[in-house]
Amino acid sequence: MEKMRIVLTGGAGFIGSHLTAFLLDRGHAVVVIDNFITGRRKNLQQFIETPEFELIEHDVSNYIDVSGSVDFVLHFASPASPIDYLRYPIQTMKAGALGTLNSLGLSKKKKAKFFLASTSEVYGDPQVHPQKEDYWGYVNPIGPRSVYDESKRFAEAMTMAYHTHHAIDTRIVRIFNTFGPHMRPDDGRVIPTFILQCLKGKPVTIFGTGEQTRSFCYITDLVEGIYKLMNTDYHYPVNIGNPLEIGINELASIIGNIIGSEIQIEYKELPRDDPQCRKPDISKAKELLSWQPKVDLKTGLSKTIAWFRKNAGK
Ligand code: NAD
Ligand code: UDP
Repeated sequence: MEKMRIVLTGGAGFIGSHLTAFLLDRGHAVVVIDNFITGRRKNLQQFIETPEFELIEHDVSNYIDVSGSVDFVLHFASPASPIDYLRYPIQTMKAGALGTLNSLGLSKKKKAKFFLASTSEVYGDPQVHPQKEDYWGYVNPIGPRSVYDESKRFAEAMTMAYHTHHAIDTRIVRIFNTFGPHMRPDDGRVIPTFILQCLKGKPVTIFGTGEQTRSFCYITDLVEGIYKLMNTDYHYPVNIGNPLEIGINELASIIGNIIGSEIQIEYKELPRDDPQCRKPDISKAKELLSWQPKVDLKTGLSKTIAWFRKNAGK
């Protein structure tokens, strides 16, 4: 790929900080825009001295101003864990709706390509399994998760409208549950929560029966998939995730085994509208991008646990 100047919204977050490292490594210049609502300055600390890295502290729900030329706008800014988007419901809707509009506006003004970070949550509590891109989803439009799900659905619609109406060169990735270093220990997502509970010898909090399933992708696999999608000219949504599906009970025992602790379980009420199952059909990504995940769950968990052992208190 030619060297580009890339604007990345949400770059101080979990995925954004890994993507920043990946893009800088490949010789691109990266301008991160973040308001730190759920991200952390320390995720970007390592790049502060890098000449090709710039940081703009800004809320993308407001007009975005970037000087100079821009080749690609990647819109990743949004609270992303259920705890975060329940804590910040309006900001979540604004990041998905106004943030997407402003990021698309920036692309149009700069004649830059555009890339939207969408989510498997557009499928809601899916009635079709595994989820393929042509499934329209099963979303409660007024439930607690709707602030996230519906704003991402709006974001996809807005992206397609800019593509068809303004001929913006767009991409949409639907990201399935991803994990790895740089997740906040308190972001409430299941993997950091279980790891921290096991490391501290506390009971693992399983919501509902723990029979609900998810499919977990390690961060390096996701970032490779994203980069490959940036390099295509495909405008429709593409699922990126790991199709290995496991139950939450099983996840707890795998994490306990790796940490070497006897786990105690505390069952808690299942949050409303918590999807019963989730598993990506990745045939499109395989065919279009020659991509599939390489890191198996236990390897990814071991790396993540090692990182939390070192960094959780910092
Ligand atoms: P994260 O919370 O770690 O990162 C999000 C970043 O966006 C944070 O740095 C936050 O401060 C920033 N942000 C939020 N609202 C903003 C605003 N209005 N203006 C500027 N910055 C803002 O979450 P993440 O897991 O890294 O998720 C990144 C993106 O990927 C999100 O768009 C999310 O919807 C999507 N995604 C993530 C997953 C996953 O499993 N991690 C799954 C599906 C989709
Ligand atoms: N979960 C759980 N205990 C926790 C946190 C989450 O049992 O402490 C469950 C949650 O109910 C869901 C699954 O783990 O069924 C994945 O939750 P997460 O918040 O990581 O992501 P999402 O629901 O958005 O897929």
